[in-house]
Amino acid sequence: MRFALVESKKVEASPGAVGMCPGCGQPMVAKCGLQRVHHWAHRRMACDPWWEPETEWHRTWKNNFPTDWQEVFLPDERTGEKHIADVRTPHGLVVEFQHSHIDPHERTTRERFYQDMVWVVDGKRLKSDYLRFIKGGKNYIQSLHNGMHNVYNPNRCFPKGWLNSTVPVIFDFGGLETVDDKKGRRNSLCCLFPGRFGNHARLAAFPREVFVNSVISGQWSEGVRRVLDKLPQAEPPMEEIPYQAKEPPVTQKVFVRIKRRPSPYVYDHRKGKLVRRKRF
Ligand SMILES: [Zn+2]
Repeated sequence: MRFALVESKKVEASPGAVGMCPGCGQPMVAKCGLQRVHHWAHRRMACDPWWEPETEWHRTWKNNFPTDWQEVFLPDERTGEKHIADVRTPHGLVVEFQHSHIDPHERTTRERFYQDMVWVVDGKRLKSDYLRFIKGGKNYIQSLHNGMHNVYNPNRCFPKGWLNSTVPVIFDFGGLETVDDKKGRRNSLCCLFPGRFGNHARLAAFPREVFVNSVISGQWSEGVRRVLDKLPQAEPPMEEIPYQAKEPPVTQKVFVRIKRRPSPYVYDHRKGKLVRRKRF
């Protein structure tokens, strides 16, 4: 975890420090090695079975939000466990940052528990995920307007484990690098909305600041509801036909013959040099 309580204050790990878990009150020790980001670990057993080791990617994302919103403990009355929301806003939205693979059953359990939530998935963990998205995008994504897209056969574009999520899933294909590619694809986020209509899903692309700002201002959940309300009602399943991108209009090449004026010089073989052309 990023924070532990030291003298009742949320403190980051530093070498040799000892703190207390804000959730269960158990002692925690600071782990400040070279391999992983500096963090706190329970001396015995972690109180949240869902907790995954953090990476630089997690930290960078969390840093977009106030410290008080990070690592918020929520008791699970059903199991008696405590779960730590990566970020929980005062409006009640939970943002979970997922780097490693997650079992679909656990994903569903977390979605039921947090309810008003959004996943941010590290799309850079597997190179194949990004390649699948780029390859699939060419054939299966149709652009609408306002950054919205229809995704035909979403299974061809996104990792299987996230397809049946009941909440929006944001894929971060940019990771920590600020890759400045022409279309800015890697710098923008791709949000896959829940629900399927036949074999198409709805996708939105937007810059990461837009997402962060809408979470901070509390407009995110309302925006998602509006998108979902506008989605058409479920349609009968369609055949698996890839979306055919429109062919760009063929521009005709027009050849114009340009008359060239003859050079005023000719090569005189006898003299072995260029001489002025004689006029007749
Ligand atoms: Zn604990």
